[in-house]
Amino acid sequence: MLCPVFRAALPLALSLCLAAPARAAPDCAGRLGTSRVMEVDPVGLQVGTKHFPQTLDLADHEVVLTFDDGPLPGTTPAVLKALAHECVRATFFVIGRNAAAHPDLLRREIAEGHTVGHHSMTHPMTLADIPYDKAVADIEKGLKADDKAAYGAAGTRPRVPFFRFPGFGSSPELLAYLGQRGIGVFGADLWASDWNLMTPEAQLTLVMGRLDHAGRGIILFHDTREQTAKMLPAFLSALKEKGYRVVHIVPPPPQTAAAP
Ligand SMILES: [Zn+2]
Repeated sequence: MLCPVFRAALPLALSLCLAAPARAAPDCAGRLGTSRVMEVDPVGLQVGTKHFPQTLDLADHEVVLTFDDGPLPGTTPAVLKALAHECVRATFFVIGRNAAAHPDLLRREIAEGHTVGHHSMTHPMTLADIPYDKAVADIEKGLKADDKAAYGAAGTRPRVPFFRFPGFGSSPELLAYLGQRGIGVFGADLWASDWNLMTPEAQLTLVMGRLDHAGRGIILFHDTREQTAKMLPAFLSALKEKGYRVVHIVPPPPQTAAAP
């Protein structure tokens, strides 16, 4: 039986879900797996303690895996392979121009059960440092490019209303804009610093040290980084050995008209 989906604002219901596996496919026996699915309401959402006062309602040893800046041939397929091997679902915050260039990879992310959120069209560093109108245009182009690449068409509202600012460069005005659009903003609770060149071994030591210190949280990686792709199998093994559990975040299902 699949773990039921609850809203993030219901910690009691969520705690009841902890013991239920999100997937019970036989080929996932003995793998890390996805512990539970958390439905996250994007309205007014601003989470990740690196940037905001609050974060997702995660229990001790629960983690949310997020990957930014893809999709990119070479590294993204390696990340997907590692996640699939451990039956783990993650969230990808993709750049619109990369999505448009590699729609096959974007569709593979979705087909394999991952959540695809948005990370602007061109990844300005940062959106807060360019004129407001240009920043909004870059955000909107990214939303449309992502959905067109993923689903063949883009509506007014993105299918997955999750956004992460490039370089975490937000401004009150842009946060207000996304809030009015009903798009939730994700920061992170800890990151791998994988924008710095290091060996996969050093990368693993760094991120596990930070995670063991924090005990839980939204973790930021980049699926465009070779050191991250190479490290990921060992990282997922370490999560399993140390009793961490992976939480998969998803948006609420699309609203449909009530039955007559
Ligand atoms: Zn980025």
